Amino acid sequence: MEQFEGPFLLVDPQRCVGCHTCELACAAAHTQAGSIIGAVLAQERLHRRNRVVQVDAVKLPVQCRQCQDAPCVRVCPTGATYRTETYTAVDQARCIGCRLCMMVCPFGAIHVATTTVAGQEKRAAFKCDLCVDRPEGPACVAACPTRALSLRYPQREADRASQAAARQFLEALGSQPQLGS
Ligand code: SF4
Ligand code: SF4
Repeated sequence: MEQFEGPFLLVDPQRCVGCHTCELACAAAHTQAGSIIGAVLAQERLHRRNRVVQVDAVKLPVQCRQCQDAPCVRVCPTGATYRTETYTAVDQARCIGCRLCMMVCPFGAIHVATTTVAGQEKRAAFKCDLCVDRPEGPACVAACPTRALSLRYPQREADRASQAAARQFLEALGSQPQLGS
């Protein structure tokens, strides 16, 4: 049986205007308050799991690619990073803040920062979790004003590409002598 491949976030650089709304939405979605204002009033720490970067004249957000064979999982000495059926997760309670995951992530998608776990302050790794606890899906996708972000499923992308190739083949066939004739 074919292994299920979980979803991933895709950005369209031609749509991104670099407004950082996705970063704010990410940070807010991971607070108890659920909003930037609420978190500030409650003195909650704000941590975004994505980062808008600039490459020449283009700005675009970068976040975890949810690797199937994730370097961050392979390198973690405590088993704090692990792969679920859907995404690559971090258990901050097991994290010792060693930054190995941060060093091996090919996308620079992990950072280590101070947080509170079970009432104790500690350093721990942060990365995109696709907002798995949010029924509406990733907050960055919903918040982007230009619809530059989307949640994609590998199998659907493959199906789409196969359909397009099949259509192209049929169109080419229509303008050619019939095969086998
Ligand atoms: S954090 Fe980096 S290495 Fe780990 S799964 Fe995501 S993209 Fe891959
Ligand atoms: S920082 Fe935490 S999650 Fe990352 S490799 Fe070290 S223990 Fe594992």
